[in-house]
Amino acid sequence: MEEQKYQGQREHMVKKHLIPRGIKDKRVLEAFYKVPRHLFVDPAQRHIAYGDHPLPIGLEQTISQPYIVALMTQSLELKGHEKVLEIGTGSGYQTAILAELAQHVYTIERLPFLSEKAKKILQELEYNNISFKVGDGTKGWPGEAPFDVILVAAATESVPSPLVEQLSTGGRMVIPVGDILVQNLVLVIKDEKDIEEQNLCGCRFVPLIRE
Ligand code: SAH
Repeated sequence: MEEQKYQGQREHMVKKHLIPRGIKDKRVLEAFYKVPRHLFVDPAQRHIAYGDHPLPIGLEQTISQPYIVALMTQSLELKGHEKVLEIGTGSGYQTAILAELAQHVYTIERLPFLSEKAKKILQELEYNNISFKVGDGTKGWPGEAPFDVILVAAATESVPSPLVEQLSTGGRMVIPVGDILVQNLVLVIKDEKDIEEQNLCGCRFVPLIRE
């Protein structure tokens, strides 16, 4: 019964907040129909887990709003074979979406409490293509580089250079760039010679904190 109720709420979220706003990648939409977002929020907030807004997840951090998670994911154009680096595990919700769509996800979170909590839920959901690390994600994960795709879920004034270095040629990175108030979601595409940057939209993320 409970599961059916949440399934209905997930469908409503996809049909009301994602499709009308331009999320059309079928695999991305499938992932949003499937991943139980309510399990990644505080039990007291499960009834509002599928609204299009961020929610607190403790320690002054937030789970991002579904539309932004979807937009970031769609811009990465995942096909299923990719090695992904995620900075800012947070609740682990975005991690689950990425794990549905790529081959392996390497996720870094600076706060051990959040990393542990996310790991527990993701293991209960039987994702076995995720590696977790506690630490400063601005340094990337050198031992596992290069990555086909990098997703950064916290805002920074400039793109950390280790992340550009650890992105493979032809790779895509999505990252919120700006100060605490005004940020742009930026898509970085790396080819043999150049780094191309595209602004996707305005956004508001918690700050990326460097060591
Ligand atoms: N995608 C997450 C959003 C988490 S908010 C979700 O949907 O739940 C951003 C997260 O980035 C926070 O948990 C914060 O602790 C983490 N963070 C901030 N700076 C970081 C850094 N330098 N390295 C790794 N994680 C960082």
